[in-house]
Amino acid sequence: MTIKEIFDSMEYGPAPESAAEALAWLVDQGSRFGHFINGEYTAAGEGFDSRNPATGEVLASLTQATQADVDAAVEAARKAQGKWEALGGPGRAKYLYAIARLLQKHSRLFAVLETLDNGKPIRESRDIDIPLAQRHFYYHAGMAQLMESELPGAEALGVCGQIIPWNFPLLMLAWKIAPAIAMGNTVVLKPAEYTSLTALLFADICRQAGLPKGVVNIVTGDGAVGEMITAADVDKIAFTGSTSVGRKIREATAGSGKTLTLELGGKSPYIVFDDADLDSAIEGLVDAIWFNQGQVCCAGSRLLVQEGIAERFYSKLKARMDGLRVGSPLDKCVDVGAVVDPVQLETISGLVAANTAGTMHQAQVEMPEGGCFYPPTLIEGLSPADPLMQEEIFGPVLVSCTFRTPAEAVELANNTRYGLAATVWTENVNLALDMAPKLAAGVVWVNGTNMFDAAAGFGGVRESGFGREGGWEGLAAYTRPKAKAKPLAKVEPFEGNGAPADPLDRTAKLYIGGKQARPDGGYSQAVYGKSGALLGHAGLANRKDVRNAVEAAAGAQSWSKTTGHLRAQILYYIGENLSARAAEFAARIDAMTGKKSGTEEVEAAIQRLFTAAAWADKYDGQVHGVPIRGVALAMKEPVGVIGALCADEAPLLGLVSAMAPAIAMGNRVVLAASEAFPLAATDFYQVLDTSDVPAGVVNILTGSHAELAKALSSHLNVDAVWSFSSSDLSAAIEAASAGNLKRTWVNNGTATDWMQDQTKRFLQEATEVKNIWVPYGE
Ligand code: NDP
Repeated sequence: MTIKEIFDSMEYGPAPESAAEALAWLVDQGSRFGHFINGEYTAAGEGFDSRNPATGEVLASLTQATQADVDAAVEAARKAQGKWEALGGPGRAKYLYAIARLLQKHSRLFAVLETLDNGKPIRESRDIDIPLAQRHFYYHAGMAQLMESELPGAEALGVCGQIIPWNFPLLMLAWKIAPAIAMGNTVVLKPAEYTSLTALLFADICRQAGLPKGVVNIVTGDGAVGEMITAADVDKIAFTGSTSVGRKIREATAGSGKTLTLELGGKSPYIVFDDADLDSAIEGLVDAIWFNQGQVCCAGSRLLVQEGIAERFYSKLKARMDGLRVGSPLDKCVDVGAVVDPVQLETISGLVAANTAGTMHQAQVEMPEGGCFYPPTLIEGLSPADPLMQEEIFGPVLVSCTFRTPAEAVELANNTRYGLAATVWTENVNLALDMAPKLAAGVVWVNGTNMFDAAAGFGGVRESGFGREGGWEGLAAYTRPKAKAKPLAKVEPFEGNGAPADPLDRTAKLYIGGKQARPDGGYSQAVYGKSGALLGHAGLANRKDVRNAVEAAAGAQSWSKTTGHLRAQILYYIGENLSARAAEFAARIDAMTGKKSGTEEVEAAIQRLFTAAAWADKYDGQVHGVPIRGVALAMKEPVGVIGALCADEAPLLGLVSAMAPAIAMGNRVVLAASEAFPLAATDFYQVLDTSDVPAGVVNILTGSHAELAKALSSHLNVDAVWSFSSSDLSAAIEAASAGNLKRTWVNNGTATDWMQDQTKRFLQEATEVKNIWVPYGE
């Protein structure tokens, strides 16, 4: 095509980026790669080819890691960790900063190599992936610098195993490695089998930056290598990928004491109201679903359009789709590149071919010959339960239905097991900011989409996983409180056959939905004092009682919408009422435990209530200064329904320490009282009854922790399970939690010093950060 012809037709001319430098770099490495362990590339071994999905050409051959390779990488990381952490924040910051500078210096090489390996348009790798990866290292260089002053009670976890997917190879690497090494951890990272090349180039950058040996180790291979890392002697697993593999990793790490963060799939809603700027919303949609060929965990893949504008919107959308340019990813004018691999192409084609619902429009565009290309596709008129409205397609396929009212939009948007991101388009800021808190998602974008920055945490709720990457909140995933762990011995109840201490029979019931309820099974347990005297009976709750309690808690969701001020008032009121009966509670605790610490325990419990009340209206979010004309509002939201197995050794204080911060933040709780000493909890019902606590906000069960833990951790309406039980339940809870990927916080057999106020830690566990991006300006 000549320039004159281009001017005549106004067609886009070709604008190819040269691949010469990147191909030369591969040739320089012998086109064969080993791993990067202890600061050295190992010799290449048996493995697999890495191909360019746009052409099918082999780029390099990679090595499949063996168990010995993984062991060597973990050993190198372990050896390096102490010294790396001891270097201190400012010392580490220098290296992160150097890596960021080097990434910037070699940015075009990284961008081209990423595009060759993954198939994403060069425009995206050049302008989004690589700059964001640099930004993560700069940002976290700052975090390392500030760690000692801003996180004085935190220390590194140790060695982190990190497993990443193929959709944003270098960016996901940066999201994982930057915060980990900033906080003093060392890492063993496995890139995805399809896209390992930029990770191997990054290894070279680590060498150039003089990063101490063993701080970053990279092993290549398939899912089996991921399994080896998961099973290895590491302190944490950070995973991004599919929900099914995330679930397996949750099960595999259950009870190991390894910290876990999972960033999983999504089916994110893209909601367009009738007052939206439609042309902008269409451009946003191009970014939402055709960016990276729709292979984006937070892709706006589920379009919800308000009925009145649907026809006009679809026709504009189809016109825009027909203008998209699909072609060589190295062409700077191309909008849609190649899907990562023939396997993924087959998955996408298979899912679309199996669908018989709705009406399909595929972009009327010239498709490249050969290579892994799939046309931009829209399927409209689906119903919410259609498989394509529920399943992650992970390709350039948009599915859609309409809605009438904002309330219906919320219902449809939340009708998914995922909860990663959501987009809202409307010119009405009141409507947008009213919608944002109602959407079950870790990130909400208003009048924009796919906005990311290192300063704003990214991550999901529900089956989209847990943990955040980026921002202050992301650091929690790579640090732990400095504390020496002491083992927790099982607290056994006293035995006895003595006469009742008080002839008047008082059999405590359960506390469900604000009422005292008889245990469903009709069984009770006797509670004896140290001398063997019968102190009373407590109900033995079963699975059905757990179901009733969870139902009551789920039904009390209006609690989450109350103000912090109101929740504080109620917590103060509980504190006052407990204080009025302090002596009675202290005597009860002493009688059950056979110790004399009751008075001290009750006083600490009252203080815990007052502290949680104090925080209720002060544990605020943040406004992140993200690089857009606008803000990202990091809002702290309640986790939802929390099940907690309360401490056996501190029957009142343990229960109050878990309950108070949880309800202060708007959660509803189902508490399993101390198994050995349940009667302080059952006396507490009356305190709750007289303190204006709405029905269902606090539910208390008594009975076997093992049985209650099983029922709570496998219940799909429970969002988090905490365990401070002296029974050995951590592994069982974590394994059962994989069902709906609920958050867990378990003691792994270590003791908690209940006299120490750890309310801040509880507040952190009781909340999730939702980042709401609000661009502004005319
Ligand atoms: P996976 O979840 O299988 O892969 C993610 C990473 O985990 C890869 O490095 C993979 O290795 C590794 N892995 C695979 N199995 C295990 C295991 N048992 N234990 C530990 N690590 C493991 O995603 P896929 O690449 O197979 O893609 C499948 C689907 O997942 C996609 O179609 C898409 O729907 C979804 N997906 C979602 C992503 C997200 O960000 N939400 C990202 C990628 C995929 P290897 O690549 O070598 O198999």
